[in-house]
Amino acid sequence: MNAEIIAVGTELLLGQITNTNAQFLSKQLAELGINVYYHTVVGDNQTRLKSAIEIAKKRADLLIFTGGLGPTKDDLTKETISSSLKRSLVMDEEALLSIEDYYKKINREMSENNRKQALVIEGSEVLPNKHGMAPGMLVSIHGKSYMLLPGPPKEMQPMFIEFGCPAIMKQLKIQERIESRVLRFFGIGESQLETDISDLIDSQTNPTIAPLASDYEVTLRLTAKHGTSEGAKKLLDMVEKDILSRVGRFFYGYNDTTLCDEVIKMLTDKSLTISSAESLTGGLFSESLTRVSGASSIVKGGIVCYTNEIKQSVLQVSEMTLSENGSVSERCARELAINVKSCLSSNIGISFTGVAGPEELEGKPVGTVYIGIALPNDKVKIYNVLLAGSRQGIRERAVKYGLHYLLEEIKNL
Ligand code: ATP
Repeated sequence: MNAEIIAVGTELLLGQITNTNAQFLSKQLAELGINVYYHTVVGDNQTRLKSAIEIAKKRADLLIFTGGLGPTKDDLTKETISSSLKRSLVMDEEALLSIEDYYKKINREMSENNRKQALVIEGSEVLPNKHGMAPGMLVSIHGKSYMLLPGPPKEMQPMFIEFGCPAIMKQLKIQERIESRVLRFFGIGESQLETDISDLIDSQTNPTIAPLASDYEVTLRLTAKHGTSEGAKKLLDMVEKDILSRVGRFFYGYNDTTLCDEVIKMLTDKSLTISSAESLTGGLFSESLTRVSGASSIVKGGIVCYTNEIKQSVLQVSEMTLSENGSVSERCARELAINVKSCLSSNIGISFTGVAGPEELEGKPVGTVYIGIALPNDKVKIYNVLLAGSRQGIRERAVKYGLHYLLEEIKNL
């Protein structure tokens, strides 16, 4: 079985968007043991899409299309495939109901072209769209399978994982269950992590271990195959245990979680509130935490104390600290954390002060960061890190370090 991924969209050809759908699907198909020999990109043009289908049909067993399932005129993937395969389009009542429901919910009139989104190729298995309107579908004709998926990754990815993957497995009569788990790490670089588990990576067969670095974090995607789902999960448990015995102190969560999610979860579990004093990060920490739903019960507030004047007048940092140690110092971070905690009557106070650059400050190099954490037991922890990168990169990583240290400290309470 081999597959070809055909991404439809003129935006892709113009370089306005990157074909991340092909990347995602290739990875997923590799896990299913399906070879991908070709990626094709074609614009919103019926003639060229038809010729792409003809070519792909000759060299692939499974053709996966993304994009062009929407309601507008240039969304023509479904219509073109249906005409190429000489199969008509039929209304899928369930998909139509869910589109109608959506419009009722937002209290808007459904236009006629939205009905078009509920049309599916006759004889296809419909793949529900839980994050949008256009359903996907899988249809098999003359020994070839055609899967149609929506373009937006936030619709396409969950649809493929929840419905597309099982539909392919059923069709291929793949008996094996495939289970994946993502382990998330912060505070360790990709190369260090890979070095620490290099023997596991080198000898991997089942489960496979795939490292990926992004957003200053490293993830390991573990994928196991087994006759039963429980068996696959056991294989994942075993390799996870091995990995965490070596790099467990940098591990913070599974799958789609974030450092913010974990901090909010832990503070909620322990019924603790937090407030922040942000100089270097200018509010980024507060912004990150308050993005998570449920933050309102634990985030008391934050003060952006960018100038020394505000550090002194609002947060009572002493004159002596600023003149003797400077604003980028352990002492300043300590006073900020303690004082914001009491000023905003929270259980925990966190502070960020440092040099984002491009110029050094108070004789301290760009990237110098102090993070203060005033804890409920009146202990105060100060962390000093030296970060490389751009001004924004330093600020973003400082926030992540703050969250990482918070997790460590709260765990120990
Ligand atoms: P919609 O109902 O939103 O119109 P659609 O299935 O018709 O969905 P398109 O109109 O082709 O999909 O694309 C919608 C958006 O999805 C694009 O603007 C782009 O942001 C994203 N997208 C489309 N194709 C890809 C791709 N191959 N890789 C990454 N993103 C994509």
